[in-house]
Amino acid sequence: MKLRVLVLGAGFGGLELSTMLSEAIGEQLDLTLIDKSDSFFIGFSKFDVMFGRKTTREVRMPYREFVKPGVQFKQEVITDIDPGNLRVTTEKSVYEADVLVVALGADYDFEFTHGLVDGGHEFYSFGGAERLRDFLPTFTRGNIVVGVADTPFKCPPAPSESVLLLHDYLTERGIRDQCQITLAMPFEHPIPPSPETSVALMEAFAERDIRYIPNRPVETYDPERRVLTLLDESELPCDLFLCIPKHRVPQVVVDSGLAENDWIPVEPATLKTRFPGVYAVGDVNKVGTPKAGVFAEGAAKVAAKSIIAEWQGHEGPPPYNGIGSCYIEFGHQRVGRVEVNFLSAPKPTGIFDEPSQDLVKEKSEFATTRYARWFGR
Ligand SMILES: Cc1cc2nc3c(=O)[nH]c(=O)nc-3n(C[C@H](O)[C@H](O)[C@H](O)COP(=O)(O)OP(=O)(O)OC[C@H]3O[C@@H](n4cnc5c(N)ncnc54)[C@H](O)[C@@H]3O)c2cc1C
Repeated sequence: MKLRVLVLGAGFGGLELSTMLSEAIGEQLDLTLIDKSDSFFIGFSKFDVMFGRKTTREVRMPYREFVKPGVQFKQEVITDIDPGNLRVTTEKSVYEADVLVVALGADYDFEFTHGLVDGGHEFYSFGGAERLRDFLPTFTRGNIVVGVADTPFKCPPAPSESVLLLHDYLTERGIRDQCQITLAMPFEHPIPPSPETSVALMEAFAERDIRYIPNRPVETYDPERRVLTLLDESELPCDLFLCIPKHRVPQVVVDSGLAENDWIPVEPATLKTRFPGVYAVGDVNKVGTPKAGVFAEGAAKVAAKSIIAEWQGHEGPPPYNGIGSCYIEFGHQRVGRVEVNFLSAPKPTGIFDEPSQDLVKEKSEFATTRYARWFGR
């Protein structure tokens, strides 16, 4: 008898979970990994693409290279999830399993921010980063505003990183003094759980003449008037709007009844949903950690160990601890790091490592170890 597992979504969570189950169970495993895309990319590679540092081909890993014992990959669009019966429908087939893992990430609601689709830009989707790569070289002067539409959003440091990298990009092109850069955030401080990281970022903004507007998500953009309106109805001149779009759970998850109050509730220690045999890992759940690859991977490890323990009949793993390290691009070819414990009581805490060139190397190794582990590169 084989263990039949369905893994929905081949991002950070789905890839790590499938890899661990394959390593532990091997040919006794009958795992189907389903994703609508043909390739994987690491979230932060969108900066490489957007600023023309790497090509699309260099950062996308084709799923045909994800080859593991007991695992088959299907490139299909999931159209229905029936968590009560552990059954999943795609546009091509119907699948049933003993264990179902939902790792479908977060979708974007571009229409939520009026004017974004007509006249704004974003770098949160891969297509958006590619469009910016083509657009940025045509931009020569004016007001650039990076603004967040709503919370929660993936990788909370990413908006701060984007303005620091934009500063370097415009400086290299010799047009920095013709451009103003503003960051409008929904938080008082850039990284709320880590005051040290927030201070370092605020100092970096001040040194580079980047304006930080706290506690104000963006509301609408008027590309005709070139004006951005914030939640408190204040207006900002804006010639180039880079939006962090509103995030939402994929519609197929809403329709499945798995989500409650926007995201999938899970048992924090085990990542189990209220449906027996169904787990939810990564951005799609609301376990309390930020929406980031390192946390999706950490949650996937705990869910995988729990599935393996139940299959092999031994005790389950220690509870998920909600700890993860995020690298932060500070520009000037330096990277900082913050290790955050999101499930620590009474509130999340963070430890900051100063930006350095060593951390540039470490961040690069973070990517190469994942490519090697998952894709054998
Ligand atoms: C600009 C940027 C920078 C970032 N930087 C970092 C960073 O430095 N560190 C970090 O840890 N995180 C970072 N992130 C966040 C990180 O990319 C995500 O949090 C992470 O990918 C979440 O993993 P996941 O497995 O939950 O979902 P995802 O990786 O989003 O995977 C979900 C998968 O589900 C698939 N899918 C969705 N719907 C369907 C469907 N109906 N049918 C079939 N397949 C479907 C998608 O194609 C996708 O492959 C960054 C994100 C951005 C946008």
